[in-house]
Amino acid sequence: MADHLTPEAAVQPLLTAKRCLVLTGAGLSVASGLPVYRGQEHSLYDDPDQLRDAMASTLHKDPEAYWQRHAVRRHAMGQVKPNAAHHALVQLEVLLRSLERDFLLATQNVDNLHRRAGQRAVHELHGNCFWLRCLDYQCLGRERDETDPEFVSNLKAPRCDTCGGILRPDMILFGEADERRWEALNSFITVGVDLVLLIGSSGVVSVPEKLLQFIASTNQSPYVLEINPKPTEDEPWGKSISGHLVMNAEEALPKLLDLLKAGV
Ligand SMILES: [Zn+2]
Repeated sequence: MADHLTPEAAVQPLLTAKRCLVLTGAGLSVASGLPVYRGQEHSLYDDPDQLRDAMASTLHKDPEAYWQRHAVRRHAMGQVKPNAAHHALVQLEVLLRSLERDFLLATQNVDNLHRRAGQRAVHELHGNCFWLRCLDYQCLGRERDETDPEFVSNLKAPRCDTCGGILRPDMILFGEADERRWEALNSFITVGVDLVLLIGSSGVVSVPEKLLQFIASTNQSPYVLEINPKPTEDEPWGKSISGHLVMNAEEALPKLLDLLKAGV
């Protein structure tokens, strides 16, 4: 079992890392007021209605009805704000780049909060709830639709400018996969990675496991720091973790940033 670290110990690999990869999950946005999806009390998918709407089959069966529910949820998601963890990650990227270190942030979150905080390069592995694409996968119609205050009063499904069909949220639903979203991440890893920060991912989701498996397939063994109030120790992939910082992201990341600034 990996050590539980103090922030002073956890910052050490950050001081020397040349290529840092960050993966964030739903735990990062809890302090903004958004629920996690799984693995905790009041998780989103404990609600059968939420779980049903997370399935691609629900969208395709009746897109108009899907939109009526999705528009309300999306509007609520647009009302929350990035928290101290999002802001610290923006500063971390700026600081590391100023030191000529490489940095890549990938997220499982579809909430758009990294972009709203000002993160430069965000790779959204599950898409973005505020972007749209055509329901017809063959059609290339895409739109960015991040700020639409009227949206919640307009519950009709938006239409594609290209073909006139219905648009859908540009995010991955259950029953779907989009390996293209991993390309930039995999390219970064292939070039080399010496530090991985896993922040706010529930141990029961598969993305950290997939990421760590890909890294292992490249014969690299970077330092893997997990920042999570509930450390992942029971899952098989937890064995790949080098150290745990058992804190909430919104407390841990500003602290690590201060220590990093003092140490470089
Ligand atoms: Zn279209």
